[in-house]
Amino acid sequence: MRILVVEDEARIAADVADAISSGGFVAEVVADGEDAWFRGGTESYAAIVLDLGLPRIDGLTILKRWRQEGVATPVLVLTARGSWTERVDGIDAGADDYLPKPFRMEELMARLRALLRRSSGRAQPAMTVANVTLDPRTRQVSVGGVPVALTPLEFRLLNYLLHHRGRVISQSELSDNLYSHDSERDSNAIEALVGRLRRKLKADIIETRRGFGYVVAQDAS
Ligand code: CA
Repeated sequence: MRILVVEDEARIAADVADAISSGGFVAEVVADGEDAWFRGGTESYAAIVLDLGLPRIDGLTILKRWRQEGVATPVLVLTARGSWTERVDGIDAGADDYLPKPFRMEELMARLRALLRRSSGRAQPAMTVANVTLDPRTRQVSVGGVPVALTPLEFRLLNYLLHHRGRVISQSELSDNLYSHDSERDSNAIEALVGRLRRKLKADIIETRRGFGYVVAQDAS
């Protein structure tokens, strides 16, 4: 899953991107309001972390524009410490959550996971299909209660498929959400990755729909 990070302070942006990558997601960073507005409105992200003080267009204006344009992506705004007016304005403009600066990366990640969970209508953090369980908090995957070691890419793939279970996901959508922009995208790589994941899980929860993509059944058992 891709998460857009809009932050003009390079150091904070890099730290946030690192935390997001370690959390099993793909982070894309933009530092400029105009770029942020465009990217958030034209590409699909699982969530957006939005700083409010930005060059060219401020975060609040971007958020209002997105919501007017029908962009429903969950947004976590980063506000100045102690500025209750920023928090109120942010939430009124359509933010789903806020975090005052400075913040701990652990808290940012917990809030992001909660946003993603709510946006997919799940109350429980761990996702279970058949005997496969993925816990995004610990990044643990287990099969029948036995932990399975996955590579970061395999974890991202399984996380994405489970998050969107019941929907057929095309190879290009998977490429978009598993690799960062500059990485090589190759449909054979996705096929090989799915194959490796299936072997590790020893469970047939990922179905292939020839010509369409992959799906994890909603009520696989
Ligand atoms: Ca800023």
